Amino acid sequence: MSKKNDEEYRDRIVQMVECDKDTFHFFHSVSDNVFFQLSGELLPDISGDPLEYLSGSGLIDEQSMPVFSVFCSKIREGIANGTDKNHTSVDISIKLPGSDEFRMCHLYGMFLRDESGKITDIHYDLRPYTPIECFNRDVLRMFSSDKNPKLFSERCKKVITDNPDKEIAFIQFDIERFKLINETYGVEVGDELLQFINDTLALACTDEQPFCRLTADVFMIVTAFESKVRLLKFITGIENMLSGYNGMKYRMTFGVCIVEDRTAHTRQHGDNASLARQLIKGNALQNIGFFSNDMKADLHKKKSIEDDMKKALQNNEFVMFLQPKYSISTGRIIGAEALARWNHPQKGMISPADFIPMFEQNGFIIKLDTFIWDEACRRIRRWIDNGITPVPISVNISREYVHSFDVTTMLLKLVEKHDIPISLLELEITESIDSVGVEDIVKKMKNAGFKMLMDDFGSGYSSLNMLKSTPFDVLKIDKSFLDEFMESSRGRKIIEHTITMSRDIGLDIIAEGVENVEQALFLSHCGCDSAQGFYYSKPIPADDFERKLLEINGK
Ligand code: C2E
Ligand code: CA
Ligand code: CA
Repeated sequence: MSKKNDEEYRDRIVQMVECDKDTFHFFHSVSDNVFFQLSGELLPDISGDPLEYLSGSGLIDEQSMPVFSVFCSKIREGIANGTDKNHTSVDISIKLPGSDEFRMCHLYGMFLRDESGKITDIHYDLRPYTPIECFNRDVLRMFSSDKNPKLFSERCKKVITDNPDKEIAFIQFDIERFKLINETYGVEVGDELLQFINDTLALACTDEQPFCRLTADVFMIVTAFESKVRLLKFITGIENMLSGYNGMKYRMTFGVCIVEDRTAHTRQHGDNASLARQLIKGNALQNIGFFSNDMKADLHKKKSIEDDMKKALQNNEFVMFLQPKYSISTGRIIGAEALARWNHPQKGMISPADFIPMFEQNGFIIKLDTFIWDEACRRIRRWIDNGITPVPISVNISREYVHSFDVTTMLLKLVEKHDIPISLLELEITESIDSVGVEDIVKKMKNAGFKMLMDDFGSGYSSLNMLKSTPFDVLKIDKSFLDEFMESSRGRKIIEHTITMSRDIGLDIIAEGVENVEQALFLSHCGCDSAQGFYYSKPIPADDFERKLLEINGK
């Protein structure tokens, strides 16, 4: 809107206000940061920012607060970075002065711009719905596309036909471990969260971006887009708005299908988006997956592995491999890491990368890990019985189950069952910035007597900051850290200092993924004497490890 149009608009509003006493009108002149109230019958006189007033007034129903906050942040974001929308609006339930009851109101913010598109003014109005409107609104909600898949499908088709020059994306998302939210906070809170998502989507999506709640916590949005960058911006924008409802922590997973065949049934695009979402689930590094045709084959593979998994444990198809850990200076074996392998009757040896993430999702990992821990203890017992000087074996603990399953007690039982010194069973666990409460669990394990190794240090998910209060005994430097930083002299300095600093605060260091002699020599020069990697040995069957141990260390 141009300046002249702006003034006309204001005049129109002033006229409107005179005859529209039920609506609260407010102007915010953004360019000179002045607020002026045009109609004061609905709310008392407000001198400053009406949104701030409303936030602190206690008039808004608690349940409406989250969507109201999203509305405010959309306004702020629009002022700071611009927006391509002309307005934004939200339904909130508020207590009007002089009344004790909450009333559903429509809060509307209209953006006025200068020639360059910058927002100069915002016109707010807040209008209570009449009883008949409230009724209509509820009816409308019931039949609107978010609850009505048929209507949704029609609207999706329309997006495709209305935008022949643009690309179309079907975006499906859900909340990871939504069940856990229901269990932790109660079903009511789970329902509130879903309502919040629904209301926020209504706020974030335009009329040309239909959305729908498909099942429990699965939502779908369809949008036309101009470039992949803008699409990603849209998705991350949605993610930001939806995260942190009432301070809860949860992660969302997005699956995206970019429409190729515009004549295909919309359900097919939806199914593809769903596939992309399911395959990205559990990935610690990414939460947005794009559909590709290869995915169908991947899903098939995943399904067949899931079918075989239960039989595999009974048929003893899982085996424990051991990868030796070496002292760089003496060349002696100082320990081993237990790594699972699946010896599949048809598929041969399957590597953990192909089944561990899936087992972590479906919970089977607890069974597999308990089996591996038991095997590790059994092997140590065997060494002791056979007069072989034992070395400690470290086992992997998945973060997935540490909150729901008492790992410490289970491990103590195994140590007792096999009657081995607790110092010979070490535990590896990945610590990362986003892990909630792992620290307490690590402390518990350490207090029980286990030596604790922080796995994958420097893989991008850990930070130096964490070292300050860490309950770990040993840092395991990740292969990617070593590879990336070994390349430049600056990087080598970083490795050197990380090692020195860790040692200064009493942490031991081991490097994993050591593949050549240069790396081994460099680590040794930096003061790190322990290494594990293909340069020394790949993970090998436990019997082979035992032979190697005897050969190198002697009895
Ligand atoms: P991780 O715990 O970081 O294990 C180290 C991985 O690095 C192993 O892969 C090992 O074979 C590989 N590796 C060791 N040295 C080198 C090297 O010099 N070069 C290269 N390129 N790779 C090296 P693996 O056995 O495939 O295991 C992958 C991941 O699967 C493990 O990463 C761990 O997170 C998980 N995993 C494996 N076994 C178990 C298990 O029994 N329980 C659980 N919870 N996780 C497991
Ligand atoms: Ca490990
Ligand atoms: Ca590791």
